[in-house]
Amino acid sequence: MARYTGPVCRLCRRLGDKLYLKGEKCFTPKCTFERRPYPPGQRSTRRRKVSDRGLQWREKQKGRAVYGILEAQFRKYYEEAVRRHGVTGEILLRTLEMRADNIIYRLGFADSRAQARQLVLHGHFTVNGRKSAIPSRVLKAADEVRWTSRGQNSEYFKIISENVASKSIPSWLNLDITNMSGRVLAQPEIDEIGAKFNTATIVEYYSR
Ligand code: SF4
Repeated sequence: MARYTGPVCRLCRRLGDKLYLKGEKCFTPKCTFERRPYPPGQRSTRRRKVSDRGLQWREKQKGRAVYGILEAQFRKYYEEAVRRHGVTGEILLRTLEMRADNIIYRLGFADSRAQARQLVLHGHFTVNGRKSAIPSRVLKAADEVRWTSRGQNSEYFKIISENVASKSIPSWLNLDITNMSGRVLAQPEIDEIGAKFNTATIVEYYSR
């Protein structure tokens, strides 16, 4: 499954915003964007004026970077959102939030979506009791994710089970700390997602 494998902090610098792609480091003074808040490359300390189209492109790239999705898949999500009833940008955002890797990240089982994706790919989770190694799987209300026994035997699991209680979990998810499992209670409210990009602008980008 293809994904971006370059330096992630470069994405924040290129797109001109903190996108919180690296977990803990993003909240420390070591954050690369805090230290170098200008685009990567030589003679790039000044940001150039960007056209409307460029701004739309930038929002779309932010959305892709935050959820770690390649262009073809991201466009597919948009096209599916267009076909459904409702506000396209909101449907797009909710679909992204309901991806298995995002839900595992939101439950506090991983420090970043990239790490959640790795955990899923390595077969550390079940969905509704069945092993699922598909990070892009879109879950729905009442679905339950749980660590596999292999996952529970990992060193990482021990660390995360000690820390998970301190994480803040969104209201649309339920975390069962005793069993280290999580359940989707409902679709997320848009305000609660706290998106780092503007979905209406993304819709404008694709609808041209
Ligand atoms: Fe972005 Fe986090 Fe890297 Fe800072 S540390 S530049 S917020 S990915």
